Amino acid sequence: MDALVRRTVLDTLVLAAATATSVAHAQATPPSPPTVIIVKAAHLIDGRGGAPLSPGMVRVEGERIVAVAASLPVPAGAKVIDLGDATLLPGLIDLHTHLTGARNVHWEDALTRTTPGHDALWGARNALVTLRAGFTTVCDMGPTWPFVDVDLRDAINAGAVLGPRMMVAGNYVSATGGAGDARQFSIYVDVPLVKNLADGPEEITKAVRTNFKNGADFIKILSTGAVLSKGIPPGAQQYSEAEIQAAVTEAGRWGRQVASHAHGAGGIIASIKAGVRTVDHGSYLNDEAIELLKASNRRTFYVPTLYTAVAVEQEGAANGIPAAERERNRQIKDAEYGGFKRALAAGIPIGFATDAVVIEHGENAKECAVRGQLGEAPMACIVAATSLDAEIMGWSDRVGSVEAGKYADLIAVPGDPLRDITQLQKVGFVMKGGAVVREELARR
Ligand SMILES: [Zn+2]
Repeated sequence: MDALVRRTVLDTLVLAAATATSVAHAQATPPSPPTVIIVKAAHLIDGRGGAPLSPGMVRVEGERIVAVAASLPVPAGAKVIDLGDATLLPGLIDLHTHLTGARNVHWEDALTRTTPGHDALWGARNALVTLRAGFTTVCDMGPTWPFVDVDLRDAINAGAVLGPRMMVAGNYVSATGGAGDARQFSIYVDVPLVKNLADGPEEITKAVRTNFKNGADFIKILSTGAVLSKGIPPGAQQYSEAEIQAAVTEAGRWGRQVASHAHGAGGIIASIKAGVRTVDHGSYLNDEAIELLKASNRRTFYVPTLYTAVAVEQEGAANGIPAAERERNRQIKDAEYGGFKRALAAGIPIGFATDAVVIEHGENAKECAVRGQLGEAPMACIVAATSLDAEIMGWSDRVGSVEAGKYADLIAVPGDPLRDITQLQKVGFVMKGGAVVREELARR
């Protein structure tokens, strides 16, 4: 891994040097047309749920896809990337990550034991690991040190750091004593620059405005307690419908969306009624909630994070998760898995997310394996992690499928993920915006 990270960083420096040279060159001569790259593989799944193309070819010019077919002409001078027996897919999307989080410190200890630099450095590392695992787009649900995710997004967009395209929450909005209250210390201790607690519609409205002013793309609110928290238990509702509504209304004025962390049924139902975009985790999803989701007509989506239950069970103790929080995890797991099966049976769309940091960064595709064990078809999980997630983000115009006009965000896995969904964990080719990030699967 270390060698691969070094190689990728080196590639970036070489790329930066090459870009600088071509900029200097461009001043003397007219701009040359973008490089044409032809990517081909035995199979191509485009992310929209239809039958795969076998074989599949994609023509990339600059940062965009310009053509997709079973066979395409190869123009003179084009670079050809031949992925042999592999399956090409769109870059994957994760709707719930915490890229700035590391497992060496529990988030409730972060304010007393770390600085924002910790989140920034681990964020850069985790962004690269996530991208190399095939996740070319994420919604980041925020750091403990507010707005470091804004800086990470901007550094990625500026080309200073390699990572996925990001939409960021900036600073999650929590009730006092609740799921996002990291102040698990004496009332005589304060961290004056970190303000993420808001109670009542007026404070929530102000928190939403403050977040957008400081660079957030969307709002994350914590409507119920959490599993990995000393605060109110996960089943308990923490924000009233009126408080959630205040967040949705103010975000709507900015043309933006709200993600609602909600485990208990009360918080799930209040969130759907208030019109949030996503109900994240959604552990105690019941029939009433499913009916409301259906009636919302693709306004609100259920976005579970199921592999977390396994990760906390198997790796939690080693990662310093307290026994009381592991017990919360044990109690909620059956409800969580039952809710997913109910949603599957009801045929509602199910977004794809992982809560990475609770799971190891880069292991995001394991979520599809759990969903498969609970009865979901491989193609349904692939659609969830590509075109459906893009729809939920409002980014269907740029990512989520292998189609002309979209960003050239492509990945490849060995063999056939429709037969064995765990192949998604073996990504061996990643391209983001036409730039190759890794290509072990390419034939030389
Ligand atoms: Zn989370």
